Amino acid sequence: MGRRPLLANVSDLRNRLGQRRDFSIDIDLEPLSVISSRTTADPVVGMVVLESIERGVSVLGSVNFGWESECRRCLKVMSGSIDAVVDEIFQVNAPEDSEINSFDGEHLDLLPVVRDAVMASLPLSPLCSETCQGPDPERFPALTTEEAEAKAAAEAGPDPRWAALEGLNLD
Ligand SMILES: [Zn+2]
Repeated sequence: MGRRPLLANVSDLRNRLGQRRDFSIDIDLEPLSVISSRTTADPVVGMVVLESIERGVSVLGSVNFGWESECRRCLKVMSGSIDAVVDEIFQVNAPEDSEINSFDGEHLDLLPVVRDAVMASLPLSPLCSETCQGPDPERFPALTTEEAEAKAAAEAGPDPRWAALEGLNLD
């Protein structure tokens, strides 16, 4: 299924530096997934502010999207929604190898930046609850995140960076 670009016409905006305009977003993205998390079929909705800047336009705002995943311990299906920050710069004819989005001076295609924001905000390995005991707590007791971190830290021994600090006299 082809996806239409999400075009914002900014030719009027670019007549004056610092000029701003709200741009509302309400689109269906193709399904996106990261590890076990994926987007739902709900539309991605939000609002960004387009602002005319030197040689381009800045885009700042957020989009809300629905996601679902399996709990990494008990595999229970869980779902929710997340606000993903959109914070991008578009420059007229930006070099292809630069991190900055390029545009023709008139139309921004916001689809790739919305997609990137959603991808970056999908939960990587969520838990249904911080105290989830897993599918069989008797045989496989689960640790909370804090317990797991404390255990890993104890096994790793003291952090060498702290050892170096101990030699310093801070007085
Ligand atoms: Zn769980």
